[in-house]
Amino acid sequence: METDRPKGLKIDLHVHTCYSGDSLTTLRELIAYSRMRGLDGVAVTDHDTVEGALNLLGRAGVEGLIIIPGIEVSTSMGHVLGLNITTPIPKGLDPAETVERIHEAGGIAVEPHPPAPFKSSLGTGDYVSQLGLDAIEVINSSMVPFSLMSLLSRRLAERLNLPQTAGSDSHLPEAIGLAYILIDVDPDVEEIIEGIRRGKAVPYGKPIPWGLRLKKIIRRG
Ligand SMILES: [Zn+2]
Ligand SMILES: [Zn+2]
Repeated sequence: METDRPKGLKIDLHVHTCYSGDSLTTLRELIAYSRMRGLDGVAVTDHDTVEGALNLLGRAGVEGLIIIPGIEVSTSMGHVLGLNITTPIPKGLDPAETVERIHEAGGIAVEPHPPAPFKSSLGTGDYVSQLGLDAIEVINSSMVPFSLMSLLSRRLAERLNLPQTAGSDSHLPEAIGLAYILIDVDPDVEEIIEGIRRGKAVPYGKPIPWGLRLKKIIRRG
């Protein structure tokens, strides 16, 4: 029972599908696990493609689940998340240009897993404030060590005075919903995006359990 849960839509803002080269989650599994975890919505953020997100929109069985199309762009210096993106953003550009392209495409740009040493990240240096980012992902379930990385990410967001987001960065269906935002807006993608931009998203989450991380390594092998 989650009777004392704060009000708001529960949305995992960072999920990969089999359209990412390193994830096996099918669109059907994404829908099933999102429902099982009690999510109201999910942002599909595959590596350098929007195909999975587009295929999910309008797919039978997805009714009632809010799908935010997105992308995790591999810039020349590290990953940048684009939310509310339906056209692919080219990879390999510098981060500032990538953020600009995301804005031109009608989306918002989020720095994922800012300090994570085992991921392709932009880091927490001062130059990050020059990129025009809209938000910082302060909770990412796949960051290691989770507590320290979450703390450093939150400090960065506070230092830059930017809104905060959260997502599981799930590459396996079982990890979907381990991190999420609660946001008290109407259940509509544009409203949610605007709400995030205005700092109305409250981040929550926990790390991916080691058993699951191992499962991912084994499945990939
Ligand atoms: Zn990433
Ligand atoms: Zn990711």
